Amino acid sequence: HGPLSALAEPTERDVESTLRPRRMTEFVGQPRVREQLELVLRGAQMRGQPPDHVLLSGPPGLGKTSLSMIIAAELGSSIRITSGPALERAGDLAAMLSNLVEGDVLFIDEIHRIARPAEEMLYLAMEDFRVDVVVGKGPGATSIPLEIAPFTLVGATTRSGSLTGPLRDRFGFTGHMEFYTPEELQQVLHRSASILGMDLPGDGAAEIARRSRGTPRIANRLLRRVRDYAEVRADGVISTDVARAALAVYDVDDLGLDRLDRAVLNALVRSFHGGPVGVATLAVAVGEEPTTVEEVCEPFLVRAGMLARTPRGRVATAAAWQHMGLTPPAEAPG
Ligand code: ADP
Repeated sequence: HGPLSALAEPTERDVESTLRPRRMTEFVGQPRVREQLELVLRGAQMRGQPPDHVLLSGPPGLGKTSLSMIIAAELGSSIRITSGPALERAGDLAAMLSNLVEGDVLFIDEIHRIARPAEEMLYLAMEDFRVDVVVGKGPGATSIPLEIAPFTLVGATTRSGSLTGPLRDRFGFTGHMEFYTPEELQQVLHRSASILGMDLPGDGAAEIARRSRGTPRIANRLLRRVRDYAEVRADGVISTDVARAALAVYDVDDLGLDRLDRAVLNALVRSFHGGPVGVATLAVAVGEEPTTVEEVCEPFLVRAGMLARTPRGRVATAAAWQHMGLTPPAEAPG
């Protein structure tokens, strides 16, 4: 393969977008959020109005972006996509809002990271479909009200707790995305395998699903890594043994914990004697951003029963000590 054919190959990002579910019926799992959302969408459609603004909260890779696209598809609307960090200046948001067509879905990923002036502009836009554009500076500045088309905002956040009250209150519905069960992840994997034209036996799928941290994005990524291994080092068949051997190469342990998860647990039990320790200190110990530890690692460690968040800091549970090969002290929570 020359460089040109390499360019023609789909990148991992392209593969991820190929695997995105397009309609509600293709979206696996999340029965609660799906049911709630279907009611919101149907009700609005029956009344001939754009649905209330929707907030989707949950750890990365659980399907918030996919679901926002599905909302637009189910409504037969177009979707505009942006993110909190991209809306640094209120003007960026004003431009985006004034280009909306009636019924459009505006998706703002990482909405908790939106800058203050843009957030304040969003209040009025969400409530009255209006923005006040400030022209000029100082005492001569005037604000010009601008009508915008009725639209539905879909916000996604990995930490709904850090949304300001006024912003949170303006969403008519919040969907809390849960980690997926291994059975649901098997469904995701079989769907992906068939899109990618792979042969995936049930036991191989079960092994990958079990170790995907309850997260479809991770399941799809591990599927691609296991496929590489199966093709390069085995006969191409994804058996349980092949899946296990491949996941060992990529540092995914028996419970699906990755390097960073284990680094956090390791620091917690070995350097801080099981805690309590503050998340900032823990992050420094593993050389990561506190937000990554808090939003990416911790939700799964908490759900796996390895880590407890207490008012005094993070604490390792008995299961965490055992998983790191140590005997838990008497005071470790169960
Ligand atoms: P988030 O926005 O929460 O980070 P995404 O919507 O980008 O997550 O999902 C990441 C990938 O995981 C998608 O490209 C898709 O392939 C897969 N995925 C997520 N949720 C589902 C689901 N419910 N069913 C099938 N695939 C899913």
